[in-house]
Amino acid sequence: MATSDPSSAPSNDDSGLSAPVTILRGVGSAIAEKLERLGIRRVQDLLFHLPLRYEDRTRLTPIGSARAGQAVVIEGEIAASDVVFGRRRSLLARIADGTGHISLRLFHFSRQQQTQLRKGARIRCFGEVRIGSSGAELYHPEYRILSGTPPALSDRLTPVYPITEGVGQGRMRTLTEQAVALANRHRGRLGRDLVDALRLLHAPTPEVSLTALDAGAHPAQRRVALDELLAHHLSLLRARRSARARRAHALPAGGPLRDRLLASLPFTPTRAQTRAVAEIDADLARSTPAMRLVQGDVGSGKTLIAACAALRAAEHGRQIAFMAPTELLAEQHARTLATWFDPLGVHTAVLTGRLRAPERRRQEALVASGEASVVVGTHALFQGGVDFRDLALVIIDEQHRFGVHQRLALRNKGNDGDADTVPHQLVMTATPIPRTLAMSAYADLDLSVLDELPPGRTPVTTVVLDGDRRADVMARVSAACRSGRQAYWVCTMIEDSEGLEAQAAEDTAALLASSLKGVRVGLVHGRQKANEKAQVMAAFTRGELDLLVATTVIEVGVDVPNASLMVIEDANRLGLAQIHQLRGRVGRGAIESHCVLMYRGPLSRLGRERLKVLRESTDGFVIAEKDLELRGPGELLGTRQTGLVDLRVADLVRDRTLLPEVQAQAQALLEQDPEEAERVIDRWLGSRQHYAEA
Ligand code: ADP
Ligand code: MG
Repeated sequence: MATSDPSSAPSNDDSGLSAPVTILRGVGSAIAEKLERLGIRRVQDLLFHLPLRYEDRTRLTPIGSARAGQAVVIEGEIAASDVVFGRRRSLLARIADGTGHISLRLFHFSRQQQTQLRKGARIRCFGEVRIGSSGAELYHPEYRILSGTPPALSDRLTPVYPITEGVGQGRMRTLTEQAVALANRHRGRLGRDLVDALRLLHAPTPEVSLTALDAGAHPAQRRVALDELLAHHLSLLRARRSARARRAHALPAGGPLRDRLLASLPFTPTRAQTRAVAEIDADLARSTPAMRLVQGDVGSGKTLIAACAALRAAEHGRQIAFMAPTELLAEQHARTLATWFDPLGVHTAVLTGRLRAPERRRQEALVASGEASVVVGTHALFQGGVDFRDLALVIIDEQHRFGVHQRLALRNKGNDGDADTVPHQLVMTATPIPRTLAMSAYADLDLSVLDELPPGRTPVTTVVLDGDRRADVMARVSAACRSGRQAYWVCTMIEDSEGLEAQAAEDTAALLASSLKGVRVGLVHGRQKANEKAQVMAAFTRGELDLLVATTVIEVGVDVPNASLMVIEDANRLGLAQIHQLRGRVGRGAIESHCVLMYRGPLSRLGRERLKVLRESTDGFVIAEKDLELRGPGELLGTRQTGLVDLRVADLVRDRTLLPEVQAQAQALLEQDPEEAERVIDRWLGSRQHYAEA
């Protein structure tokens, strides 16, 4: 697919919007180079370079009513001006306007400023009010000394842009003004309502609510967000189209292995599993590459679905790559698949970073010869010359580790050797994001949803307890372990410091080991070597440890059915979705399981309500929706940290009500006006096309 750089941008453009910024007044090559640092190359890029926030300089605030924290324009006379020696030397000018007084304070000042700011001068300032040692103060405000009739106040809210060295706010404003004027003259190019929205956002009139703008809730912002979401959606759809224009090996149903596998299992698939497998089968039977996301809560049985798909490819004598987000999970999957597949004569190889060289070579040879049909590994699987003999299917168990960018990058791998075909692709995720969000974040994929858990699971009972009940909780852990059960004790992130978190886990493990007699305690945290971590996990899996003290590193999919109790300390620090994922580690067997959420009081009303959601529901989708509702705009349920989408203006969560319209518009545009679709993609993603390369 062609990348869109400005030279290949639609050429029937006489508006100048896709011309380089150097056509603007005051932009030579030096400024152009600086603008490039902000990703601004074309006039149009300036148009979409939107303010971070706004300042209201449209009216004077009487000094007497200026409140701390407010940004205000004040005007008055300097009543006194002195250099004062507090902790730091500063110039303090006391300004009065008849309603009150406020002090302007400069920590750095020139002799010239000292003369300017003399007693009796009239002055206008803009700055944020703070409470300093002299009462209300403005630190280093913007100011101008007035003489004669004061100049008119601004009649627009003042935009504050992302800027760069050498291009300040003032220059950025004159540049965006020019871009807006051009767009306005050629309204047809972008569409009237989009131009109006952009015009408003670059220079809002004072009636526009600053609060609405700050919340990203103004209709003009929503209009622009719609455009950005549309661009992203279109680029994913386009990626999907171009991937589907390629060929894959058709893998129609037919062989006996699937039935033999199902007959050998001690359970029957759920309806949801059967449906997902049927959807995948239909994909695989075609000679266009399948690109499907299987979304299912923790424990919904995604591994079996992967296994069924893998067998289909194996029956055709082709190979399957199965990628897991961690070595631990890779090994777990390899064990499961070997147990299921060995009796069928289908062989599994495993490739992780932990293998010693000779063993790695042995496994690689199995892959190269085709003796191993299924190759399980971490992303290391695709690094460093692993030669597949005949790779036809890639399965990615992403949990919530990989984002859209990694996924798209991976799509290019794995088809070495046979350039004409690409493997089918199946992505499995346990991230319980609401359907509308998933449809946008994963617009390049078809979706299968597992909305049902296997029967016979006793739902996890969750209780919320104040941290001062720790002794009770410890007694409970001890009792569970003595009766042959296993337990997790999770220490949460302390101020984003993995080091401190590890330390807390070490201390907790030491404390628990010394106070719980007869309980075998293990410890895993992010600071340990992979080997060490794996050994502890393996010992826990084998039942040689009773209690596993861990940081949130255990979040990703370990399966220990005998573990029936989980304690999460300071649970209020975590997102609901994250707690839900953690909690999914227990309740994997038939035993009644419990999760204890501890908090260090006092808990806010909102905090209480959030934990209550977890007490009342074990449905990942319900929890995700609630999390959205309670955290409200701006707070993302992991979408940002998982790198789902990289947005400038829109916010997938805040603007989620736009998504159905985005989806509908994108479909229509691709079908009816592909050139316009290209233009939409180009104006938002012009320089970032590589993400959507398929
Ligand atoms: P996920 O990957 O979706 O979190 P797993 O594939 O690890 O879930 O499955 C969790 C457990 O449930 C495994 O022990 C698996 O063997 C078991 N399981 C899967 N499908 C069923 C089913 N239909 N009935 C009963 N148990 C099942
Ligand atoms: Mg899994």
